[in-house]
Amino acid sequence: MNSELIWKQSKRFLRKILNAEIYERWINGIVPISISDDSVEMGVPDEFFADWLHTHFEDLILDALKKVAGNDFTISYKTGFFPEERTAKPKKKRLPQENTSDNAVKFSPAPNCHSRHTFSNFVVGPENQFAHAAAMGIVGTSNISANPLFIYGGTGLGKTHLLQAVAHEATQSYPDSIVEYISCEDFLNLYVDSLRMNRHSDFRNRFRKADFLLIDDIHFLAKKTQLQEEFFNTFNRLHNEDKKIIMTSDKRPSEINGLETRLVSRFVSGLTVDIQPLGVETRLAILRKKQEEHLIKFDNEILSFIANNIVSNVRKLEGALTRLLTYSSLTGKRITVELAEQILSPLLEEETVSRLSVDMIQKKVAEYFDLRVSDLTGNKRPKNIAIPRMIAMYLCRKMTSKSLPEIGDSFARNHATVIHAVNRIKEDRAANESLNRSLALLERQLQQQG
Ligand code: ADP
Ligand code: MG
Repeated sequence: MNSELIWKQSKRFLRKILNAEIYERWINGIVPISISDDSVEMGVPDEFFADWLHTHFEDLILDALKKVAGNDFTISYKTGFFPEERTAKPKKKRLPQENTSDNAVKFSPAPNCHSRHTFSNFVVGPENQFAHAAAMGIVGTSNISANPLFIYGGTGLGKTHLLQAVAHEATQSYPDSIVEYISCEDFLNLYVDSLRMNRHSDFRNRFRKADFLLIDDIHFLAKKTQLQEEFFNTFNRLHNEDKKIIMTSDKRPSEINGLETRLVSRFVSGLTVDIQPLGVETRLAILRKKQEEHLIKFDNEILSFIANNIVSNVRKLEGALTRLLTYSSLTGKRITVELAEQILSPLLEEETVSRLSVDMIQKKVAEYFDLRVSDLTGNKRPKNIAIPRMIAMYLCRKMTSKSLPEIGDSFARNHATVIHAVNRIKEDRAANESLNRSLALLERQLQQQG
């Protein structure tokens, strides 16, 4: 069977099982580049799209491909591909969140930016309102006028969304201006390519012409001396000409390890704002807003359940909603809280993993065995300490995302000792029911704590 046919039939299969809206948005937007015996390369518009497919639909797609072609595939994504204009669908229903005014119909997204990352899709709460107002200030729509603007905060809290919203707004409101939105990683790649092809001056001119320079994840500059030099010069040029500059990062400038002090001082010369982890009210508001885009509606108690249990970042919040939407459109079942808990269990587990720390586990285990934390991390080897120590290591491995050497460090041991402990407890647990019960109890208590 040729590759085009495989993809066509897989799509047909997916269309049957997915809700029409989800199918249109995610599956029909894929451009198949190549299919070999065991791998598929898919063209997608941007990283966001690839990420979303990977997290939410990859299993379904692999399943469909297997049904059609009879074997297992791996999928890779390539960005920069847009589906051809689909002319045969003049009656395509406008999704509820899309603005229907004339302006909105003409909306053409800024290059490299996701069309949904607009200000109107951004939910403002006390945790992000300052960053939001400052970002609006850059395009002249709030009364803050600081430049450059440096926005920092944890992952999945909306930094990229805000930055792209500025790109869209600048493109719409100042059509003659040059808007450059780019991730720092792409900035590096372009720079390296330009050197390789002897076109450094093109690269230089491109960014020095910008009226708005919006650099995402600037912490990527860390330890890259040559790139820092390049950026320093571009930054100075633009700043002297009073061009607008926004940068985002996962840390404040002074905390970026390996960033030259002259850059740190430039970066904080305007306004530095953070986005705090979102509180439950904002998380709920985001879920309500996201739900507007879909035909399926959930009860409030379901949305509250998600908002109360998925706390670490908005990307996961969206992931949870999509998972429930997909499930309910595939099965037609009404989602209850019990069902939601089941369907979301992998995400809920991940949440606990990201919240629990080695310290918390050491403390809990010490308490349980009536020891001090220093007994677990110290040098003594009597059996009454050795076993709890191994249990603590085992739980750290299972319930945090820390690496073996990191766990080893926390116990003043090396990683081989951690491997030994993990294996030993795993075996003992299978053979010894009373140990198994103690571990189950510890895990439950830690999960509640997390
Ligand atoms: P970051 O760049 O901080 O890691 P993103 O901007 O990529 O985070 O946000 C992750 C996802 O969450 C995106 O899909 C984004 O649209 C969404 N999101 C984050 N914050 C908000 C918000 N306040 N309102 C609506 N959507 C949000
Ligand atoms: Mg980002």
